[in-house]
Amino acid sequence: MREPRGFQRMTRQRRLILEVLRNTTSHPTADWVYEQVRRYIPNISLGTVYRNLKLLTEMGEIQELNYGSTHSRFDANIQPHYHFTCKVCGRCFDVDMEVRAQLEREAAARTGFKVDYHRLEFYGTCEECLRKTGREEDAAG
Ligand code: ZN
Ligand code: MN
Repeated sequence: MREPRGFQRMTRQRRLILEVLRNTTSHPTADWVYEQVRRYIPNISLGTVYRNLKLLTEMGEIQELNYGSTHSRFDANIQPHYHFTCKVCGRCFDVDMEVRAQLEREAAARTGFKVDYHRLEFYGTCEECLRKTGREEDAAG
């Protein structure tokens, strides 16, 4: 019999994947998680990591940040929050600001649709990349 959602057995592999995600703030891709997990379970396959990431997402233990055509990133912080992606280095950061629930009411009012949640993504240049760019400009000038 299939176990109900949320009562899935936590296998050693799945627990390790969750642990890896809870110990990073980098919003890693499945490939990165795979490289970390392989240190402890050398014979694990990338497919198994993908499958467990999907399961953990369905179980509500992690969230998947889907960026369309590019690779998904994974986040053990399941509280609603916004992200910033640096267009220079590609890193993804949490943005510590209030989540605007009002946007959902506004979208629902304008469309008549039932809005479950919203995502807001910021794009630009992170502090470190800004500093590097500044240095390069200094050297050139
Ligand atoms: Zn950057
Ligand atoms: Mn996050």
